Amino acid sequence: EGRLIPFKEFRLPFALGHGDRLLPPEPILELDRYEALGGLLFLRRALKNLLAPEAILEAVEEAGLLGRGGAAFPAHIKMRAVARGEPPRYLVVNADESEPGNFKDRFLLEHHPLLVLEGTLLAALAVGASQVFLYVRDEFEAAILGLEQAIHQLEEAGLLPVPTQVFTSGGLYICGEETALLESMEGKRAEPRLKPPFPVEKGLWGRPTLVQNVETLANLPLILREGPGTWREKEPKLFSITGDVARPGLYELPLGTSLEDALRKAEGEPEGLKAVLLGGAAGVFTRDFAFPLRYKGRLPLGAGAIVAFGKEVDLWEVLLGLAEFFQEESCGKCFPCPLGTAVQVEMVRRQERNRDLVHHLGQTLKGSLCGLGQSAYWAYQSLLEVEGAA
Ligand code: SF4
Repeated sequence: EGRLIPFKEFRLPFALGHGDRLLPPEPILELDRYEALGGLLFLRRALKNLLAPEAILEAVEEAGLLGRGGAAFPAHIKMRAVARGEPPRYLVVNADESEPGNFKDRFLLEHHPLLVLEGTLLAALAVGASQVFLYVRDEFEAAILGLEQAIHQLEEAGLLPVPTQVFTSGGLYICGEETALLESMEGKRAEPRLKPPFPVEKGLWGRPTLVQNVETLANLPLILREGPGTWREKEPKLFSITGDVARPGLYELPLGTSLEDALRKAEGEPEGLKAVLLGGAAGVFTRDFAFPLRYKGRLPLGAGAIVAFGKEVDLWEVLLGLAEFFQEESCGKCFPCPLGTAVQVEMVRRQERNRDLVHHLGQTLKGSLCGLGQSAYWAYQSLLEVEGAA
């Protein structure tokens, strides 16, 4: 594990809401403090029928909010699909953050549970959900406690329009995949479902379900507060920056920021690095420091993990850690993934650099059922590219 995420120090030079206008980096756990900083404004409006569900959907659409969990799917499309479904409908907050190198959702849950809940409840009202579940890894004890207290505070204040509860997950990487997550909530093995049907049509217990990432939902109050146009100009995204940088931590940066600028924010020096792992385990090694950090670009952004490796780091050792991680986390439901990830470990152990073999490995893994297997070889392939360019 230490090999995979070389934490040196953990600091959070971070202020959600562009600078220090909305929330400072220290935890905001009390309702009155959150409200004094501008929180609850839109939830209160929605509860007084001054903010219609359609207005929330329109704001999300106008902002162009893309899912922050890694898939970058437009949030409004999912929300509208659920809103169109037959009730009862559900909302499940995917707080199972398991991507190595990522700690943004955990930070939000531990420091700003009320912001997460306000965004969640606004989304629940927008889609007409009759129940909300927050699916949280069991290791995130402080987050679970903070969320439960925040739910209680909202309830006491008459600000909980939809029954909301924490669902404690067993904490498997595959549980971040939305259908595996839903299976586990139904008491079954956490294995991805065949899609379609998608969860927006047939989700939890066969009902229309919005499964949305923590950071995505936390942005709803910010979009409404700033106005979707202003929010869209900045498109804030949280990046977890660790490894060989002087100030590892969580940084909020506009999408489009170059990798170099992101590293410099964390007081990292690109010229002193061998490579960066961008996007977590399901990401790629790169030395393209000019790369603008945005979705649908040449390189995957994933959920925003950036791990910097200095010149002295043996990247093959890092890669072996990643390969073993995928082999362990493969759920075994489909054929190419358990086979391919096992072969990959053997190939990485012998530092196989034959590009044809790696290409064949990739072709096999591409045929996997879900993103875990489909992305398991990206880091391997990209390491060869980085080496080739060196
Ligand atoms: Fe399971 Fe891997 Fe197949 Fe995904 S790709 S369903 S994790 S075996």
